[in-house]
Amino acid sequence: MLGASSPVKGNAFRGRRCPNSTHCRLSAATAFRRPIIAPNRASAIGLWRRLRRSRQAADGESLSMTSYEGGCLCGRVRFHIAAAATDNVYCHCRMCQRNSGAPVVAWALFPATSLSWTTGSPTAYASSPKVQREFCADCGSHLVFRIQGSAVLGVNTTSLDDPSSFVPRMHIFTESRIPWFHTEDDLPQHAGYGPIRPPNND
Ligand SMILES: [Zn+2]
Ligand SMILES: [Zn+2]
Repeated sequence: MLGASSPVKGNAFRGRRCPNSTHCRLSAATAFRRPIIAPNRASAIGLWRRLRRSRQAADGESLSMTSYEGGCLCGRVRFHIAAAATDNVYCHCRMCQRNSGAPVVAWALFPATSLSWTTGSPTAYASSPKVQREFCADCGSHLVFRIQGSAVLGVNTTSLDDPSSFVPRMHIFTESRIPWFHTEDDLPQHAGYGPIRPPNND
């Protein structure tokens, strides 16, 4: 029973006698308009809140998992990577130069199974018997370098939505470096693949 001296749900003076009779009259009037929460509805709300907390925890866990997004210039082809990069390199080989139209290509290497196409799919070009370069057929952006049988693949670092954290740590195929092109670093230089040479690939 609600009244000036009755505990009112949500009232600041709940469980105590309010010294301000005017306040309590208003609170009591407000309480009559407040929807009464039935026990079963209250338990449903509690359940929903627990589910929301567990969902938020799950979201937090998924955010903490390593994953990256990227895609081509026109947006027709997009990909998702569910792993951390295993290495990051500058490649000066002639094939990368011709394929990209740039003097060097920065590659981020990932486990081959970690990449999935989320929008559209690329066109593949076999640049050598064991190598496939995957690109967007609409805008020409080159995205992925895949070696048959290799456990890793190369993702064109600049195709990642945020390439800033994929810092190259070596130069490879420097035998093909264009003489006028230099990068200001002291990174190791390798004439061929160097330490990232894939098995069974020369
Ligand atoms: Zn495109
Ligand atoms: Zn290359």
